[in-house]
Amino acid sequence: MLAQLLQDISLFRVLHQIDKDLASACRQAGCPFCNSPLHNAPYTRKPRGGPDCIPEEYCVRQSLCCSKEECRRRVLPPSCLFFGRKVYWGAVILIVTTLWQQNPRNYSINMLARKFKISRNSVVGWIDYFRDVFPKSSGWHRLRGLISAEVSNNQLPRMLVDSFLKSHTSYFQVLVKCLECLAFDHVT
Ligand SMILES: [Zn+2]
Repeated sequence: MLAQLLQDISLFRVLHQIDKDLASACRQAGCPFCNSPLHNAPYTRKPRGGPDCIPEEYCVRQSLCCSKEECRRRVLPPSCLFFGRKVYWGAVILIVTTLWQQNPRNYSINMLARKFKISRNSVVGWIDYFRDVFPKSSGWHRLRGLISAEVSNNQLPRMLVDSFLKSHTSYFQVLVKCLECLAFDHVT
């Protein structure tokens, strides 16, 4: 089920590959500031909350750097592994918030924090983020037109997960799809 996916290394392998593809598309577009070619400049992060033995190669934030001496700007492609500067994996944030929204009695904030070894403040912060910040974000407004009108701005990201469950056979696929959608919201 949804919670068990956080121990599934193959999920992170798939997301890592998507991040590489997103970076490659971004690289082909060239520097957004001066149009010069971009170079790969990935760096390793130490995200929390995922499988214990995750290979280090999946902990890489794809990043690009302009090749022109006078520019040298860094360009961050969209990422479905990482949500901005948040210290937990994007998948952890999505799953924990969705579990709480699906069943707050069985998955209380305290229980989720204990089960996934996350600080209580982080869980509260993610719930607040999806209630107050995300529905107003430009990423969500862009997405809004591409997904079912049944998905309301309340109860995000659970509504997004439920909506994708209608057209996908497994929570694995749903999660990948949701994280792909959310990748564009966290480019900083
Ligand atoms: Zn440039």
